[in-house]
Amino acid sequence: MVGSPLNKLCLVLNQNYEPLSITNVKRAVCLIYLGKAEIIEPYNFGIRTISNSFNAPSILRLLYFIRIKRTNLPLSKHNILKRDKYICQYCGTKNGPMTTDHVIPKKLGGKYTWENLVCACVRCNNKKGGRTIEQTGMKLSRCPKRPHFFSIVHNLMKIPDPKWRQYLFLE
Ligand SMILES: [Zn+2]
Repeated sequence: MVGSPLNKLCLVLNQNYEPLSITNVKRAVCLIYLGKAEIIEPYNFGIRTISNSFNAPSILRLLYFIRIKRTNLPLSKHNILKRDKYICQYCGTKNGPMTTDHVIPKKLGGKYTWENLVCACVRCNNKKGGRTIEQTGMKLSRCPKRPHFFSIVHNLMKIPDPKWRQYLFLE
């Protein structure tokens, strides 16, 4: 059943609190019963087992460390726009085709990096042209950074519990 509380999503953290994966409440409860995980944050609804009833887990943490080798997210126009949620980092619009803008222009030595590229609408990109933000008086809504792989994967996903935000580096 899709609407069942057992199918609610549950965020799994590694032993070091790094987000690892997403599972459902049913599988999360199994991990807890097997002694492999603990509840970090509960949902505000309960679930009942044969012998017990407790709040359903929203966030759980594994009690052992899983070593994973992550490949770095490739730097591309597509991933820059995704990181910035297709929002112009200068004026905040979501409308129209988006471009990537070099914060420090190429001709001034600005590099093709996560830290120097932002999503910009065509209007802001044209307005800024080959100048720096100081020269145009434009402001960035936030400082561009290399995204955590997990935050970009789930940027476009609806988060089922606001408590997840701090663990997904969205705050
Ligand atoms: Zn704009």
